[in-house]
Amino acid sequence: MAQLLRGSVWIGRCFGIRVGIHPSWLLVFALVVWTLTSSFADLGAAHALALAIVTALGFFGSVVVHEFAHALVARRFGVATLSIRLFLFGGVATIATEPPSPGAEAAIAFAGPLCSAMLAGVCGLSLEIVRHTGGEPHFALVLMALAAANAVLAAFNLLPAFPMDGGRILRAAVWRLRGDHAAATRLASVAGMGFALALGLLGAGLAWHTHHWESLWYVALGGFVSIATIQSYQRARCEGCDAAAGGSKGAP
Ligand SMILES: [Zn+2]
Repeated sequence: MAQLLRGSVWIGRCFGIRVGIHPSWLLVFALVVWTLTSSFADLGAAHALALAIVTALGFFGSVVVHEFAHALVARRFGVATLSIRLFLFGGVATIATEPPSPGAEAAIAFAGPLCSAMLAGVCGLSLEIVRHTGGEPHFALVLMALAAANAVLAAFNLLPAFPMDGGRILRAAVWRLRGDHAAATRLASVAGMGFALALGLLGAGLAWHTHHWESLWYVALGGFVSIATIQSYQRARCEGCDAAAGGSKGAP
């Protein structure tokens, strides 16, 4: 993961953790703004663009909060986080050592989706309050989009595809049941590669049959997940040579 994110620009430090942006993030930010501007088109071009930028910043801010949830829970288990970065496929927290136990791994992995689900709930609740008090309709649109985006973020990350959060929870469960970190990593990695392949085939099939070429995004995402799975597996295997667990990881 570190090799893929070379060239990141560091924009600050929060809770002692470096926060950065990889140049590839600018592409996905522009794509999200463009998509949202189209969906807000009936507001007029200037309003739609402004609202799209605010919503996109809110969404990527939510992604950073998701990563900080991982980082702060990791800290409680004595695992330091080196950096949090935004890039083409979202956010990633790079931690210094692998979690010391299955319980720690599950808690660290679950913190991100839980945080995103809570953000979705807060946005949904705020949306209801705005609607019932006759508040600013543009604000309601932003809240609606953020509630949906955070709910999707929570659900997608819970898919059992290592090294995504759900895959790490799967690895923790197998690690706890079998007491074998290496075997758990192998099984979770197989699930991760299966998911990456399914995502790629789904994207290619959709693009082929519907001619909606934006579906090729899923092919790219599948490619990224497969690379991340291989790198995470190799790193975990290397660390397993020295100790039961140790090293660094990227937590999408
Ligand atoms: Zn996560």
